[in-house]
Amino acid sequence: MFKINENYLKLPGSYLFSTIGKKVNAYKEANPDKEIISLGIGDVTQPLAPAIIDSLHKAVDEMAARETFHGYAPDLGYEFLRSAIAKNDYAARGADIAIDEIFVSDGAKCDSGNIQEIFSINNKIAVCDPVYPVYVDTNAMAGRTGIYNKETELWSDVIYMPCKAENGFAPELPEETPDIIYLCFPNNPTGATIKKPQLQEWVDYANKTGAVIIYDAAYEAYISEEDVPHTIYECEGAKTCAIELNSFSKNAGFTGTRLGYAVVPKALKDSDGNSLNALWARRHGTKFNGAPYIIQRAGEAVYSEEGKKQTKEQIAYYMNNAGIIKEGLKEAGFTVSGGVNAPYIWLTAPDGMTSWEFFDYLLANANVVGTPGSGFGPSGEGYFRLTAFGTYENTIEALKRIKEL
Ligand code: PLP
Repeated sequence: MFKINENYLKLPGSYLFSTIGKKVNAYKEANPDKEIISLGIGDVTQPLAPAIIDSLHKAVDEMAARETFHGYAPDLGYEFLRSAIAKNDYAARGADIAIDEIFVSDGAKCDSGNIQEIFSINNKIAVCDPVYPVYVDTNAMAGRTGIYNKETELWSDVIYMPCKAENGFAPELPEETPDIIYLCFPNNPTGATIKKPQLQEWVDYANKTGAVIIYDAAYEAYISEEDVPHTIYECEGAKTCAIELNSFSKNAGFTGTRLGYAVVPKALKDSDGNSLNALWARRHGTKFNGAPYIIQRAGEAVYSEEGKKQTKEQIAYYMNNAGIIKEGLKEAGFTVSGGVNAPYIWLTAPDGMTSWEFFDYLLANANVVGTPGSGFGPSGEGYFRLTAFGTYENTIEALKRIKEL
């Protein structure tokens, strides 16, 4: 009789967003007349920019003619897209990344979940707390995280780096040395960022201790301040210690069309001199048959002059929402952070409420859905996340309701 992977049995509860979905559906069923506004899940609401749509149409037409039809894409992605990424996301920022260090994928969720496969099961991971849940859960599925403690909500073999108001929501170098360090800036869920000298400290630490940093830059397009790095490769020495993940989901609205990439530098080697670039290429080629041609053409259009202008306008639209949420909450007496270099606003639940208590309170009294901070880790308890990805009209209405509470 077959048995399932026992690591899956150790996973805690259900996925955060399915729990939220169930609660919201139950509320809707009991209150069919209520107009619910969701500022919960980090999904975009604006349609794809015209330059991207034009490129999609053109690519679809190419698929209709034998001469221009495309079958399987190259494993690492089409060169036209990888060159555009190398030029715009790296060379333009003073980072020298070769196109064979870029691996096109169908998004950063898969990459951030899959990348752990190329590391030893005995490697120890360090994560920020609170954290994007995929990093820990996928390491747990692989059996790298030890035993889960239901009381503390912590895994025995994970190094947690608390990010709270006291440290400006920025992790401190851990006492115990990890092998794999997950960093995400601008951060989901807190919306916090770190400046270049701080990130340089992490790079120096990783190079000194022989750790690898997995740097999730999915929200880099939202950076508005000058001294906040857009890529870890702006830091000296990052190519010998860091993998970077990025996504077209938030910078250009590809959550439904799916596109992302990972950068695995050739200079990145394990302690025995094995190349991670070669290993990831092997893994990619074995388990992935490429992102669709039409979507990669759409991705290329993000880097056209028109594409850049139009996606910048979309980001400005969301960041205007972020400002409305942040200022509105402050006026209503909340303690808030984030929302300056990220589309997430992180607030303290009022009156000593837990994150879930505030979730229920907000749903019942303002019919607004947000995300409980505790769902991202124990240090998120007492905090709450609102996203700027709603429409302008819904954002205004949600804040009006919150102010009236
Ligand atoms: N990384 C972070 C930190 C995220 O918040 C998200 C999505 O919310 C992703 C990755 C997933 O991106 P993608 O849509 O490319 O899979």
